[in-house]
This record gives sequence, structure tokens and C-alpha cells, in this order.
Amino acid sequence: MSDIRIYPDPILRGKSLPLKEIDSKAREMIDEMIRIMYAYKGIGLAAPQIGILFRVIVVDTEQGSIPIINPEILESDGEDTAEEGCLSVPEVSVNVIRGSKILVRGIDLNEKEIEFEVSGLLARVFQHEIDHLEGKLIIDNLPGLK
Ligand code: ZN
Repeated sequence: MSDIRIYPDPILRGKSLPLKEIDSKAREMIDEMIRIMYAYKGIGLAAPQIGILFRVIVVDTEQGSIPIINPEILESDGEDTAEEGCLSVPEVSVNVIRGSKILVRGIDLNEKEIEFEVSGLLARVFQHEIDHLEGKLIIDNLPGLK
């Protein structure tokens, strides 16, 4: 049973690899991510947070769980600053500047290409989770810390 990796676990700094094949193992991993996201009352989770360096995220800001495999941000418009927390960095909130409106592309569980044009909280969550795939954490936005 996997659980949430907590900073400074080095896996959180790893760079995730594209997921090549959505086989039963990948589906199990995604189910597990969704289960853990809800168990911790999160609104998003990235695979490295359960110790797996593959490019998979799940988000749910209120529309139901959306898993996205190999997500990419194609366009970003505007800028917003807001406080963010992270299940892997408990009890910390950091002001993070994000694109206010973004276009995200990835693939779904049926290996279909999906695109989301989103703004507000959902755009923020997408960007936060995609940062995890690059080994980036909210604390990297603290002044004087790298
Ligand atoms: Zn996070």
C-alpha cells in the first residue's frame, strides 16, 4: 500500500518519465492516486507523491476526478498569485505565481488525447501538479530558497 511521500523525500525531486503504455498496472496506479487524493482531502495529486516517477496527475476541484497522463501546458495567459499548500509539504503555505488561464493537453485512460482550457483554481492545480513531475515543490517559490 503506497502512501504520500513527504518533503524532503528525494523522490519528490526526481524528474518523471512519460508513461508509454496504459496497461493494467498503470490503471491500478491511477486508481491508487485517486484513492489517496480523496483520503487526504486533496484537490490534486501527482505520481511522484506516491513514489512513482511517471508523468501522471489527477485533479478534482469539484468536477469529479480527472486523471491526465503525460500532461503538457501548451499555452498560458495572464498571471495570478495565491497561497498554495501541498500534501507532500504539510502545514506550509506559499504564495505562488501561476498562469491564470492555461491550455493543457494529455491523454486519458482510454489513450485518447484530451485538452482542457481552464482558469482559476483548476488552472492553478494543474500547474502545481505538473510542477511535481519536474521535481518542483511550492517551497521553491519562497524568496531566497532554491
Ligand atoms: Zn503538491
